[in-house]
Amino acid sequence: MAVIGIMSAMQEELAAVLAAMPHEHRITVAGRDFWVGHWQGHSVVVVLSRIGKVAAATTATVLLERFAVDTLVFTGVAGGLGAGVRVGDVVVANGFVQHDMDASPLFPRHEVPMYGRARFEADAELALQLAKASAQVLADAALHLGAGTLADFQLHAPRMHQGLVISGDRFVSASAESQVLRQALPEALAVEMEGAAVAQVCHDFGVPFAAVRTISDRADDTAHTDFQRFIREVASRYSLAIVSRWLSRRQPA
Ligand code: SAH
Repeated sequence: MAVIGIMSAMQEELAAVLAAMPHEHRITVAGRDFWVGHWQGHSVVVVLSRIGKVAAATTATVLLERFAVDTLVFTGVAGGLGAGVRVGDVVVANGFVQHDMDASPLFPRHEVPMYGRARFEADAELALQLAKASAQVLADAALHLGAGTLADFQLHAPRMHQGLVISGDRFVSASAESQVLRQALPEALAVEMEGAAVAQVCHDFGVPFAAVRTISDRADDTAHTDFQRFIREVASRYSLAIVSRWLSRRQPA
């Protein structure tokens, strides 16, 4: 049976998924807890990677090698970079770049040495399925979050975007810094710390990967404001609603 891996970086991001997913075993490998079970008719493994590219790459490798995961989805939060990508919106990645990769002048800026590329693609079919699930969940945002939460966080008509997500080992929390990223990678919709690393691992193993990120901040001087509370009350609930909707619509393989 096909095995679907679901990962997030932080406990808060995955809390609602972990509470809802009926796990059958917990297996600890490399200090990470892998929650194994069945959900919506699929065999799934849910895990927290911890923050950053190395932690995420290690976790992804264990999922693929030890748990024979053949479809991998990341769900979490990110800083919005693109114009019109607002807090409370959702970005479904169609590709990933490591914004802090720089082996120039030996290789072009952002190119991952020995791969001949800077960009790793998301699986198009998987990204499409997640985009549909995300758009449907956002259309019913009040149902999933409650009207009070929408008002508290001033979320009006949240939108789903599809495009480039960039990753690096830095929490981007200064307007000057996000401006530099926008200039270097003008297509980027969102910035986070894991996606491009997981995409590279999945590329190596030939396993389809896609990622959904709720925008928690604008990667600017106010990026720390209410970060934990937003994840708990908004992003974690979106993750649960999107992943469970996606799984319920997906044909078991
Ligand atoms: N202040 C937080 C730090 C978490 S790091 C804390 O105390 O827990 C941020 C996490 O959310 C990473 O896993 C990253 O993928 C994502 N993220 C959200 N906004 C981000 C931003 N502006 N820059 C980089 N990563 C961001």
